[in-house]
Amino acid sequence: MKNGLLERLAAGPVICAEGYLFELERRGYLQAGAFVPEVVLERPEQVSALHREFVHAGSDVVEAFTYYSHREKLRVIGKEDLLEEINRNALALAKEVAEETGTLFAGNLSNTNLWDPEDEDSQRLVRSMFEEQVDWAVDAGVDFIIAETISHAGEALCALEVIASTGLPSVITMAVHRSGLTREGGSVLDACSRLSDAGADVVGFNCGRGPETMLPLLEGLASQISANVAALPVPYRTHAQQPTFQSLRDERRPERPFPLGLEPFTCTRWEIAEFTSAALDLGVSYFGVCCGAAPYHIRSMAEALGRTPEASRYSPDMSKHAYFGSDPLLRQQNLAYKDSL
Ligand SMILES: [Zn+2]
Repeated sequence: MKNGLLERLAAGPVICAEGYLFELERRGYLQAGAFVPEVVLERPEQVSALHREFVHAGSDVVEAFTYYSHREKLRVIGKEDLLEEINRNALALAKEVAEETGTLFAGNLSNTNLWDPEDEDSQRLVRSMFEEQVDWAVDAGVDFIIAETISHAGEALCALEVIASTGLPSVITMAVHRSGLTREGGSVLDACSRLSDAGADVVGFNCGRGPETMLPLLEGLASQISANVAALPVPYRTHAQQPTFQSLRDERRPERPFPLGLEPFTCTRWEIAEFTSAALDLGVSYFGVCCGAAPYHIRSMAEALGRTPEASRYSPDMSKHAYFGSDPLLRQQNLAYKDSL
C-alpha cells in the first residue's frame, strides 16, 4: 500500500507538476483560446506521455487533466455532451500512470469563471459543477483532490466544502492577480487562513505569478496557518511592475505576450531551483510549476529539494563541453577559442 498525500507531506516536500494546457498547446495538440482539454479524447497517448515525462522529471503526483473540462468551458465550445466522457477519460489516463509509477493520483477542479459573490444562483451553479467533477474523481479512486487557480475566496471555500465532503485530502490553491487581493477585494492571507480553518490540508498559490512575485505572498503564511503551504508559480519572469504573466509586456512586440508569446520571459532552470530553495525556507511543503512548466523545470525543482529523479541521469555535466568544459581529454585549441564563439 503506497503512502497517501498527508503521510508523504509529513515525511517531506511533495512535488506536483502542472501546466498541461500550455505544454500540450505548444506541442500542437490543444487549441489556445478556449483552452479545453479535448486532447484527452482525441490524442490520449499525448496526455499519458506528458504524465510520464513529469514523473520521470520528479513529480510525485499525476494530476488528472480535467483542468477546464467543466460544464461552462464545454458550453462555450458547444460540446457539453462530452462533459462526462472527457472527465472520466482524463481520470483514467492519470490513474494508469500513477499506478505504474507508484505516484499519487489527484483529481482536479479549476476556476469556473462563473462565481459571482453577489449572485447566489451563480454560486449554486458552481457548486453543482464542482460536485459532478468530484463525483467522477471519487469514482475513479483518486488519492486526493486539487482545486486550483481560484481567485474568489468564496469559490475556493465552496470547492473545499465539496472536496471535504468526500473525506479525501484537499489541496486548495489560489491565483492572485495584479491587485494582490482576492477577487472580492480581501486579503489573500485571510483567505488562506479561512481555508485552513475550514479543514483544507494544503493551502497556497498557483498560476498567475512567477517566482519573483509569488515569494512575497508566501512570507509568514506557514506560521499563520495550520495547513501545509503550497507554491506553484508560472515559470515566467514577472516583477513588481508586471506581477502576473497576463500583465507582462514585451518591448519588442506589439501583442500582449500572454499566452502565446511568453517565451522571452521563461525562467531558467536555475531560477526555478532558487525559487524552490527560497520557498522551502519559508515553510512551503507542496511544490510545483504551473502554466509554462516543462519537465526540465520540474527536475530542477526536484534536485533543489535534494532528489535525484530518473531524469537526473541526464542532468548537465558541462565539464565535457568541447569549448566550455574542463575535462583533460578536451582539445586545447577549442577551449582557447571559447570567447570567440
Ligand atoms: Zn497555470
